[in-house]
Amino acid sequence: MAPQDTLTPARTVDTVDLVALADRILAGGKVTRGEALALLGTPDGDVLGLVQAAGRLRRHWFGNSVKLNYLVNLKSGLCAEDCGYCSQRLGSEADVLTYSWLSTQEAVAVARTGMDAGARRVCLVSSGRGPSNRDIDRVSAIIDGLKEEDPDLEICACLGLLKDGQAEKLAAAGTDAYNHNLNTAESHYDDICSTHTYEDRADTVRKARQAGLSPCSGLIAGMGETPEELVDVAFALRAMDADSVPVNFLMPFEGTPLAGTHALTPLDCLRILAMVRFVNPDTEVRIAGGREDNLRSLQPLGLEVANSIFLGDYLTSEGQAGAADLQMIADAGFVPVGAEDDPAYVAPAAAPTVRRRGAGTDLAPNA
Ligand code: SF4
Repeated sequence: MAPQDTLTPARTVDTVDLVALADRILAGGKVTRGEALALLGTPDGDVLGLVQAAGRLRRHWFGNSVKLNYLVNLKSGLCAEDCGYCSQRLGSEADVLTYSWLSTQEAVAVARTGMDAGARRVCLVSSGRGPSNRDIDRVSAIIDGLKEEDPDLEICACLGLLKDGQAEKLAAAGTDAYNHNLNTAESHYDDICSTHTYEDRADTVRKARQAGLSPCSGLIAGMGETPEELVDVAFALRAMDADSVPVNFLMPFEGTPLAGTHALTPLDCLRILAMVRFVNPDTEVRIAGGREDNLRSLQPLGLEVANSIFLGDYLTSEGQAGAADLQMIADAGFVPVGAEDDPAYVAPAAAPTVRRRGAGTDLAPNA
């Protein structure tokens, strides 16, 4: 699919008065499906206005704070499910790390790195269709270790489809939240996975909520879905009353069915984030996987709409340096949650790098 195909279709969409729409949402109103679709059709030249309008909602509910989340991949690869976007899927030839369960000590040590850098939530993730009861015990031991380090740390588990009673066990172990993404619209689900259904996923989100866990559920954009399907999944997440909504942008790993799929431009990513914000105005909207590769130099504009990111690396891919994340947040005028009283949480600007290439040297110039 050509980069511009996804959200700039050759069709007419209604235009939206962004100021009036934001006023209406701030007064307690709701965006309609037609309006959400129109937001996705915002012309490139008007995207900054869209970001500004969505930013009014973001700042109303979340001020200038950015929640930092930190991923710990407890068990990587070798999954028996066939989610087409996933580097850990059945038959994946992606050259990613594969390993079995980290020990409690290993998991706590990895998490400690993120906590020291300012993460307020640690997300404990494992590959696979869903956990066994033994897996729940393993994760419970890790949660014990983390709560010993920091009783106020938020812990989110992301272990796949839950069976009856497992959400309650995780809640009893001290888990605060459970992540299970709807990923895409119900109408598109069979195109990306054949080993479980959209309803299986929705059921796990409901189980988490019923057990008192904070539901975290989001989407992956850029998998060949239509704009209407993006709107559908945003409204489905609103209907599920997710407390946090991670917005992933496809990372098309070589060795997976979606390799080579680069459907989104950075401006598309901003349109999607803004649409999700308008549909879920008071929800934690997180820029999740694919942030660096898809938003590229527009990452800081994403912070004007989303109020949460992952710090550092993702499950099977490297993110930009954690220090660069913190610098970006500070440069854009935002503050990590918990660092409000710590204006020196980023290093001062570096000294200039003296040029030693190009004119006057034997080395090639920079271009
Ligand atoms: S998303 Fe989860 S269930 Fe699907 S293939 Fe990847 S690890 Fe397995």
